[in-house]
Amino acid sequence: MEAEKLTVLIAEDQKINRQILRRLLSSEYEVFEAENGREAFAQLKQHPDISAILLDIIMPVMDGYEFLRLFRASEYSSLPIIAITSEKDEISEQKALEFGAWDFVSKPYQPATLLTRLKNVITRSQYYLVTQIKYVYEHDPLTGLLNHNAFFIRMRKLLDEHPDQTFAIVRLDIDHFQTYNSFWGEEKGNDLLCFLAKWMRKSATYSQPCVYGRINADAFCICMPHCEALIRSGAKQAFDMLAKYNSEYRLVPSFGVYVIENPGENVRKMYEFAALAARECKEKYLSYLCYYQPEMSDRVLEKQWIVNQMQKALDRNEFEVYLQPKYNLHTDQPFGAEALVRWRHPERGLLSPGLFIPVFEQNGFIGKVDFFVWEQVCILLHRWILQGTSPAPISVNVSRVNLYNSNLVSLLTELVRKYDLRTELLHLEITESAYMENPNVLETTIGRLQREGFTILMDDFGSGYSSLNTLKDIPVNMLKIDMKFLSGNSSSERSRSILASSVRMAGWLGMPVIMEGVETEEQVRFLKGIGCNYAQGYYYAKPMSVSDYEALISGRQQIPAVTPLERLEDISGLLWGNDLRSELLFHSLAEPAAVFEYSDGAARALRVNASFNRRFGVSFCFDRYSGKSEPSGLFAAEQERILRAFQTAAETREPVPCLCTIPSSDKTGVSVRLMLRYWGMNGTSAILFAQFFRTEPARTAGI
Ligand code: C2E
Ligand code: CA
Ligand code: CA
Repeated sequence: MEAEKLTVLIAEDQKINRQILRRLLSSEYEVFEAENGREAFAQLKQHPDISAILLDIIMPVMDGYEFLRLFRASEYSSLPIIAITSEKDEISEQKALEFGAWDFVSKPYQPATLLTRLKNVITRSQYYLVTQIKYVYEHDPLTGLLNHNAFFIRMRKLLDEHPDQTFAIVRLDIDHFQTYNSFWGEEKGNDLLCFLAKWMRKSATYSQPCVYGRINADAFCICMPHCEALIRSGAKQAFDMLAKYNSEYRLVPSFGVYVIENPGENVRKMYEFAALAARECKEKYLSYLCYYQPEMSDRVLEKQWIVNQMQKALDRNEFEVYLQPKYNLHTDQPFGAEALVRWRHPERGLLSPGLFIPVFEQNGFIGKVDFFVWEQVCILLHRWILQGTSPAPISVNVSRVNLYNSNLVSLLTELVRKYDLRTELLHLEITESAYMENPNVLETTIGRLQREGFTILMDDFGSGYSSLNTLKDIPVNMLKIDMKFLSGNSSSERSRSILASSVRMAGWLGMPVIMEGVETEEQVRFLKGIGCNYAQGYYYAKPMSVSDYEALISGRQQIPAVTPLERLEDISGLLWGNDLRSELLFHSLAEPAAVFEYSDGAARALRVNASFNRRFGVSFCFDRYSGKSEPSGLFAAEQERILRAFQTAAETREPVPCLCTIPSSDKTGVSVRLMLRYWGMNGTSAILFAQFFRTEPARTAGI
C-alpha cells in the first residue's frame, strides 16, 4: 500500500501560480488551494490534517500579513508557513518572518529549493509537536513540574547514572492542605502550590544533580545527593516561609527524608519510605522534618495487625478491665479506682493500651471498646452491691469519638439503668485536650451528663495548652492532674508552684483534685502538704485484675476525701479575673500585689501578680500555729505584725495599712507599707487584696 501523502495548502490569488505549484508538489503531497487568507482559514477548518502552508503575501480580500496576524492567535498556530514574496523584496521577507512565517521563498523560485525548504519546515514542526506532546505528557499543568510518572522515571535514570553517589529522596507536603483549600478556595490553594513549586525550583539549583516533581495534590518530591545540612536548612527555610505566607492561617510543612542506601531498590518504594517519615512528623507537634527509620515500617505493620485483629478480639472477649485504685490522701486508704483496658491476646499475651488505643482512636473502634469497658464496670458495681457492699465510684475513660456521639448521654444512662445503679457511682474521665477542640459542644454534653448525676473528671489536666482560666468556663467536677508534673524534673520549683496553685484554685472552685502517676513517698508528702485530695500511682498500687482489687478492698470501709462542692461563682470571678481588663491591670501593677485568703491566724496567697511572684514566689503563706511561713526569709517579728493586720482587715472590713520591714536583695531590710483591702467572705475565710508599697527612696530597682 502506498504511504499516505502529507497535505499542503497553497494560498495564492493567481490561478496560474497555483497550477504551477500544484504540479510541482503533487507527486509528494496532497494539495489544497485557497485564493486569499479568508479562504485559507476555511480550508484549514475543513482539513485539519494540513501539515504546512505556502502563503503568497500579496493577495486581495485578506493579504498574507493579515492572515499571519490572525493565524498566530488561532488554534493552528503551530503549523509551519512558508511565505512567497515578490522578486527580491527584502523588506517584505523580513516582515513575513516577523509576522511568524517559518521561512520564505521569493518569486521566481527554484523548484528544488522550494521543495527542500518545505520538507525542512515540516520535519521541524513534527519534531516540535512531538516535544510538545512529550512535555504535556510528563508535566503537571498547574506548576510545570514533572508529574509523578515522569518523576519516577527520571529518578531511576538519575540513580543509574550516578552509581557512586549517595542520594536522598525528600518528600514535602502541607499539613491539612485540604482544609486550607476548602477554607480559602481552590484558586488560593493553587496559588500556594505554585508558590511551593517556585521555591522548589529555586532550591533545586543548590542540590545538583537532582530531579524533582509534584507527586499528587500537595505532595512534592526531590531526589538529590544526600546532604543533611542542606536538607535541614531547606526545610527550616520552607517552615519559616510558610509561617509568614498567610497571616490568618498557620501553614506547616512536613518533610520526610529517606536516605537511599540501596539504589537498586524500587523508586516508588523509596518514595513510600519518605512518605512514612513525613507522616511521622505530622504526629509530633512543631516538628517538620523526619528521617525514615526502619521502626516506622514496623509500626505500620503493627498497626495493620491491630486493625486486622480488633473486631475478632472484641467478639472473642479478649479485652479485660484492670483497676487501678485511687487513694484518699488524708487517710492513706483506697477510695474507688480507674478502669483501664487490657488486651489479652491468645498468642502475644497481655498488651498494654499504649499500643492499641492510639490505633483505635484513629479508626474509631475505641467507641466500641469504651462501651465494653463501661458495661464491664457496671456489671462489677452491680455484683458488689448484690454482695452487700457499698462500692466507691469507679471512673472510666471517655474517648473523643464518644464525646461527639450524639447518643452518648442516653447510652450511659441506659447502661446504669440496666444494671440498676446510681449514676454517681460512674465517674467519667475526659481528657483535657478534648475541651480545647470543641468547647461549646463539650460544655453542653457535660452539662447533660451532670444533670443525669454523672461526675466528670478533667483528665490529664495541664498536659495541653489550656490555662487555669479554662476551668472557669467548663464546669467539671474533679480535676485530675497530669503525671508530667511529677515525672522528670519533678522537684523543679516551677512544677511545684504550678501544682500548688492548681490544687488551691481547684479548691476554690469546689473541685477535688486527684494526682496521677504518684511514685514516691516524697511526692506523697508534698501532695499532702499542698492540700491535694486523692492520688493514683505506682507508689500505692499498679493497675490490677478485678480479683486483686476485690482482695485489696475487702473488709475496708472506703471513705471519700471530699464531696464535690457547688461552684463558688462569685469568688471564682474575683480570683480568675473574669474580664481581661482587670486581669491586665492586676498584672501591670508595678508593685507586688496578691489576693489572700485569711482565716484563724493563717494567710495564704491565692493569686499573685508578676511583680509579687518575682519578689516572693507564688506559694506565699503565714501560719501562726504551725509556724510555717513562705518565703522563709521573712523576719519573724514582722510576721506576727502582718498577721495582726490581716486579722484587723478581716474583722473590720476596712482598709488596713501596715508598715513593716521585709528582706531586700542585699539581705538587709527594706521598709514597705502593706495595704490590705477587704473583698469578701468565702465560708469562714476572708478574701483580702494586698499591695506592697515602698516607703524609702529606692536603693535598688523594685522592692
Ligand atoms: P490515662 O487515662 O492517663 O491512664 C493513666 C495511665 O498511667 C495508665 O496507663 C496507668 O497504668 C498509668 N499509670 C498509673 N500510675 C502510674 C505511675 O505511677 N507511673 C506511671 N509511669 N504510670 C502510671 P495505661 O493503663 O497504659 O493506659 C494508658 C492510656 O490509655 C490511658 O491514660 C488512657 O488514655 C488510655 N486508656 C486505657 N484504658 C482505656 C479505656 O478503656 N478507654 C479509653 N478511651 N482509653 C483508655
Ligand atoms: Ca484516665
Ligand atoms: Ca491521665
